[in-house]
Amino acid sequence: NRGAGFVESRLFDAPMLAKARASATLESELRASIDSGRVQPAFQPIVDLTSSRVAGYEILARWEHPERGPIFPDVFIPLAEQTDLIEPLFACLARTAIHALPSLSADRHLPFLSLNLSKLQLHDGTLQDRIVGLCADAGVPTHRIHLELTESDVAESGEATATMHRLRAAGFELMLDDFGTGTSSLSSLHDYPVQWLKIDRGFTVQATRRRSVAIVADAVADLARKLNLRTVAEGLETAEEVPLFQAMGFDMGQGYRFGRPMPLPALRAWHASRADP
Ligand code: C2E
Ligand code: CA
Ligand code: CA
Ligand code: CA
Repeated sequence: NRGAGFVESRLFDAPMLAKARASATLESELRASIDSGRVQPAFQPIVDLTSSRVAGYEILARWEHPERGPIFPDVFIPLAEQTDLIEPLFACLARTAIHALPSLSADRHLPFLSLNLSKLQLHDGTLQDRIVGLCADAGVPTHRIHLELTESDVAESGEATATMHRLRAAGFELMLDDFGTGTSSLSSLHDYPVQWLKIDRGFTVQATRRRSVAIVADAVADLARKLNLRTVAEGLETAEEVPLFQAMGFDMGQGYRFGRPMPLPALRAWHASRADP
């Protein structure tokens, strides 16, 4: 039955081919953009909910495409992971951000930088040495660098856990990101050498509207405190959300309420205009 087979393969192949060509183009454009500095870190403030001071910044990747305009990480991080570009991407963001850090100090108080790691990087035995090298070049102590990981990235991989222990031994602080989403479980809080827990935006969005969600978030804060973990509530957007998470005992908050992710020049302007208490 060749006729049917032919039709089938045409229907199957044409879109596949188009998609492959599109991503091959995007891949070479991403590679070129990393080399030419068109992929840059955006800095989003993380605020201490007790003192209202900026304690640190999360680094989020931004790609300014010459023709398409800004492309968001949900699109190019998966592409970078599929094409061996995650390491050069991370290296370029981390270098820029770590070198800028000392200039972001306020009254001798050096903020921390929180960098997102891809699960692929957890299979790289030289990761800790390379970040230690970047810190040494910039004169930044390693404990000022936080590394964010999701539980699905580290689950069921002995190699990932071993890398986490090496990163920890080098002085970096580890943070479990997106806590409370589909794949995370309570055992991740004692199975991995993490010092921080970031509760997912799904909770912050709903906590002011649904009592049951607020109860779970509150229990997470209690549990973290008892386990000596520090906590961040992400995606805080409204004036009501901040005191709620503060009252639950979350240590830090992050979200549009405090500041959007900003490129370095905008961050400097934001910093200067903010009366840091
Ligand atoms: P994530 O690590 O959970 O980062 C938080 C996301 O929430 C960011 O989206 C941030 O811009 C956004 N956000 C922050 N505050 C608010 C808020 O108040 N409201 C709302 N609606 N959103 C808020 P973004 O920058 O688009 O990044 C998406 C995801 O891409 C990140 O999720 C992270 O998983 C990944 N990503 C970003 N940069 C990097 C990177 O350099 N390396 C790796 N491996 N992944 C990255
Ligand atoms: Ca993150
Ligand atoms: Ca997150
Ligand atoms: Ca997320």
